[in-house]
Amino acid sequence: MSPDFAPALSRDAALRRLVQSFEAAGLPEARTDARFLALHALGLSPLDLTLRGRDPLGEAGAGALRGAAARRLAGEPVARIIGAWEFWGLPFALGPDTLVPRPDTESVVEAALRLFPERDRPLRLIDLGTGSGCILVALLHERANAFGIGLDRAQGALAVGRRNAEANGVGDRAAFLCGSWLEALTGPFDLIVSNPPYIAASVIATLQPEVRLHDPRAALDGGEDGLDAYRAILSGVAQRPGLLSAGGALVLEIGYDQAPALTRLAQTAGFAEARVGRDLAGNDRVVTLRPSLAGR
Ligand code: GLN
Repeated sequence: MSPDFAPALSRDAALRRLVQSFEAAGLPEARTDARFLALHALGLSPLDLTLRGRDPLGEAGAGALRGAAARRLAGEPVARIIGAWEFWGLPFALGPDTLVPRPDTESVVEAALRLFPERDRPLRLIDLGTGSGCILVALLHERANAFGIGLDRAQGALAVGRRNAEANGVGDRAAFLCGSWLEALTGPFDLIVSNPPYIAASVIATLQPEVRLHDPRAALDGGEDGLDAYRAILSGVAQRPGLLSAGGALVLEIGYDQAPALTRLAQTAGFAEARVGRDLAGNDRVVTLRPSLAGR
């Protein structure tokens, strides 16, 4: 049940009550969820909450907290309630057309940066299915002379991506375009990155409600075997070798069990090299592909 918050209740007591109600509901991250939501609902910084924890919630604070608690208890993820999340240490606004950025996806950024270790080297990047723009913006943030395109089919995502690029100080080096995978692009790009939808359609119903009910289906659904987006991307690059510059590479996020399938797809599409990398949990999470020189 959603806890009640009287306006006279102190912020500290309200936070305790929120934690208890989340624990009672069996939320695995009760404490962290409660803290994030309380800070957001009350419009406080962590320092404000520490220093002024005995202040009363007030009418507006109590109402906001009630609303946030009810939404979380109904299964909405904290990131959706806040409307923003952190990725690569940077803030990202979210919208209905964007996934909540996952920490796993930072392995894509790391793999891409390892390919181009010089901070100042000019680079041309494209992020396919950019969503919130998190991969692109993180890369532009780390490579001062890189220019990048965030591509998405969803107009709503493009507006969010643009806003995130601007908020993180890379708006002048980012363009956001509406499109489907590599159709209508010319290149050449030094890096093609993507966290495409890769969940097999039949598996989506088994995902946690936070994902299944609140992340956009188009960002999850990879078709019958989960590999549709990879087939489109790999055949796009194979058919138009000019899309990648000499020395260019693709860095793609994959599902934990998709490395063998991706390696096979890449071989069939004529890529010379496929390297698989892991996320922090030790799962296969990213594949780096280079085209064969013969096809160029
Ligand atoms: N990693 C996401 C999840 O587990 C899936 C994102 C995707 O399909 N690209 O929900």
